[in-house]
Amino acid sequence: MVRTDQLTWTEYVEKLEGDPLVFLPVGAHEQHGPHLPMGTDAILATRMAEAVAGRLHGLVLPTLTYGYKSQARSGGGQTFPGTISLDGQTLTAMTQDIIRELARHGVRRLIVLDGHYENQWFLTEGIELAQRELLTSGTQMDIVRTEYWDFCPQHVLDTVFDGNFPGYDLEHAALIETSMMLHWQPELVRLDAIPQDDQAHFEIFDYYPQDGAGVPASGVLAPARGASAAKGQLITDNTVEAIIQALQAKFCDR
Ligand code: ZN
Ligand code: MN
Repeated sequence: MVRTDQLTWTEYVEKLEGDPLVFLPVGAHEQHGPHLPMGTDAILATRMAEAVAGRLHGLVLPTLTYGYKSQARSGGGQTFPGTISLDGQTLTAMTQDIIRELARHGVRRLIVLDGHYENQWFLTEGIELAQRELLTSGTQMDIVRTEYWDFCPQHVLDTVFDGNFPGYDLEHAALIETSMMLHWQPELVRLDAIPQDDQAHFEIFDYYPQDGAGVPASGVLAPARGASAAKGQLITDNTVEAIIQALQAKFCDR
């Protein structure tokens, strides 16, 4: 795995001759309860991209460490101090700008690896606008956009949650993210601060202006207790493997 921000431009040009997969990790600066750092989504997306790229001789771009606005039912929402969010058009424009530059360099395969639930449609829009622009210049770039958690195999979820998986929207600062952080960055987890809250209960609609209704005071949307480094390793190992298989299948001509 090679990080582009640690290469010289001449080394970068050499690497691109091998037509590598280039990874753009995307996260957020968002409250993650009293026990996880606000960079959790960015950290996990970065680690995931580095792990996958390492196996596929890919390049990893600097992570986008800000994301779209936190929503109550998936990230606790915008009512918490510390959460710093972008307007959708900002994230869309940043994505489009980066793709335009990569195309100019000759990058032909890009993996946008998202670690923050609320980002997905604005990343998608940035990709769509970039593709429309590239088409007019006859430039082709294969782009994959994905949320890493979609690759965690069902049998792993069954094991980790003992059959009580609450769904990925509620898995905010909860068992999965806490376990993955315990596996990859244990020094950043405040184990003694893990809240004892139960699962959050929300209306079926979103309400604006955001008022935090239904969001536990801790900011954690589902139980994080029971998280462990061992579960984190089980989740990450299987997820990394599944992403690698999917990308190898998609780009099997490589
Ligand atoms: Zn998160
Ligand atoms: Mn998030």
